[in-house]
Amino acid sequence: MMTLKPLIMLKNRHFICMMITTLCCFYTFSVAAQGRKPNIIIIYADDLGYGDLSCYGAKKISTPNIDALAKKGLRFTNAHATSSTCTPSRFSMLTGKYAWRQKGTGIADGDAPLIIGTKTLTLPGMLKNVGYKTAVVGKWHLGLGDKNGPDWNNELAPGPLEIGFDYSFIIPATADRVPCVFVENHRVVGADPNDPIKVNYHNKVGNDPTGYENPEMLKIKADAQHNNTIVDGISRIGFMKGGKNARWRDGDIAATLTNKAINFIDQHQKQPFFLYFATHDIHVPRSPNAKFIGKSTMGLRGDAILQLDFTIGELVAHLKAKGLLENTMIVFSSDNGPALADGYEDEAVSKAIGHSAAGPFRGGKYSVYEGGTRVPFIVHWPGYVKTGLSSSLISQLDLFASFARLSDQKLRKQDAPDSFNLLSVLTGKAHSGRESLVEHAMNNSLSLIYKNWKYIEEGKQLYNLKNDPSESKNLNTAQPEILKELALKLEEIKQQ
Ligand code: CA
Repeated sequence: MMTLKPLIMLKNRHFICMMITTLCCFYTFSVAAQGRKPNIIIIYADDLGYGDLSCYGAKKISTPNIDALAKKGLRFTNAHATSSTCTPSRFSMLTGKYAWRQKGTGIADGDAPLIIGTKTLTLPGMLKNVGYKTAVVGKWHLGLGDKNGPDWNNELAPGPLEIGFDYSFIIPATADRVPCVFVENHRVVGADPNDPIKVNYHNKVGNDPTGYENPEMLKIKADAQHNNTIVDGISRIGFMKGGKNARWRDGDIAATLTNKAINFIDQHQKQPFFLYFATHDIHVPRSPNAKFIGKSTMGLRGDAILQLDFTIGELVAHLKAKGLLENTMIVFSSDNGPALADGYEDEAVSKAIGHSAAGPFRGGKYSVYEGGTRVPFIVHWPGYVKTGLSSSLISQLDLFASFARLSDQKLRKQDAPDSFNLLSVLTGKAHSGRESLVEHAMNNSLSLIYKNWKYIEEGKQLYNLKNDPSESKNLNTAQPEILKELALKLEEIKQQ
């Protein structure tokens, strides 16, 4: 009997597995047969570090809404943005191509032209091809207009609508850069022909006070880069004049974006939709709504994390109320690692004592080390995603090919060249993630993760990420063969 019982259990387990597989296949098939493709939402936080959420180990702050996504979804511990700064990470995710393969994809000025070619198949364009309604709501930072840049008083094109989005409501660059206005589709929201907007990144335009001339007007003191035109009591990078009625109030940004996202969802709830929801939180200037100020013990940066968590709670509650949560795949991540001191004196550093924004990893935003690109990454899709943890190596690049698979599409050779279909890893059904991944830092230095190893071009460094996740012991002289092998591999990928 002792030997028979495990055998029966084994058989039962085998039978149950078969039943589950059959049911899964049947369900997938029936969903596809009815043409009910799942909705897809990418929630893309800004500058949120690996260690900034309580589900990733933070003790000084609690993020219950994001934790709930993790609890009912799959939480990744080895997922990466491609770069440790905003613009290249966003470029890579939307194109499935490493940003460093294309010139001009560094941090974009607020008046930069669109950096994604209008003939490129983008992630939203790919989904649009099979009937998805597509939208971007939130921070853009990929440029607007042709090579002459944006004309803020006229049609702002090409932009999101020319590269695959049906609807856009965006912060053109970042909130620390002028112009401090929202752009809906092709127009500045609230633009007034009698008060035209002018932007200049080199010389002062107009008579608006600036941070360096009128520091007494500032809510938050800023460094020399961020001390140009004052809007809503905060000095920004760059100068602007005009558009007085179009200018945002920083404390309203999160709610405005949430409402726009919810409106889009409501309008398209009967068809599959793709929403790229790029929050401004928790990028600088961290100036959350009054209802969050002082609610964390970590100053404005912590308060902004609470606002971010609240935002996710609102969005998820809305999906649930509309009966859409079950048929919506939500991917939550961040565009790069954390930045504490980032141009404004908002006490982020002094109040972060006891908090490790990058978790166990070295570096943060801008950096070549893991803290720069290893980010929170949660996939939530009830019934499809296996709940728990995944340590598979995955990149935001891979969303493109994975969503192509999810929507039954074949990509051409030139589409999303660096993206791998890891749908089964995203849903927790497999654990065979990437074997290698290139990471890109602010100074354009590249590094290669290959299996457990990481090679950094800059200074020819080598770390064993498995034994030394905080990259503290440089093994370049101890392991010269591995160093050489990885350096060669990186060159190969660069040449591909
Ligand atoms: Ca960022």
